[in-house]
Amino acid sequence: MNQKVSEIFKSNKIKNTIQRQRVYEYLITCKEPITADNLYIELSKDKSFNDVINMSTIYRILELFVKHNLVLKNSFGNDHRATFEINLREHKHHLICVECNKITAIKGCPLKTYEKDLGDLTHFKILEHRLEIFGVCPSCQSGKGEHH
Ligand SMILES: [Zn+2]
Ligand SMILES: [Zn+2]
Repeated sequence: MNQKVSEIFKSNKIKNTIQRQRVYEYLITCKEPITADNLYIELSKDKSFNDVINMSTIYRILELFVKHNLVLKNSFGNDHRATFEINLREHKHHLICVECNKITAIKGCPLKTYEKDLGDLTHFKILEHRLEIFGVCPSCQSGKGEHH
C-alpha cells in the first residue's frame, strides 16, 4: 500500500479502499485534467481491477475527493463536461481552445498585485480567484484541429 496516499486519506478522515487509492494514484500521474469517463476507461484496462470498479463508483469517489478538496472539478470546455485533476494546491490558470476544448495550464498568475489592491480598496479578505482564457489553438486555426 502506498504510504503517502494512505496518509493523505487518514489526515482527511477518508476510509482507505483499493478503489479510492487507485483513483487517487491515477490522478497523480495525469498531466492534464481528465473526465470521469476517461478515468474509468483507463482504470478498467487493468483486468484485475475491472471487477471491483464501475462508473458510479468512480463518480462517488471523485465527488468525495472534490468535497475534501483533494481533487479539483472544472467544466470549462464548450461541451461543459466536467474534468477532474489532483489538487496540487498550486495556483494556476488555463487557456482553453473553444474549438477542440484542449486545456493548457498557464504558468504564473498575472493577478497577484490586482488582488492585493482590490483587497485594500474594498476591505475584502480575498481568498481566491479564478481566471480562464478562451481562444482558438494554433492547430484549430490552421484547420487541423481534432473534431468531435
Ligand atoms: Zn483547438
Ligand atoms: Zn491567479
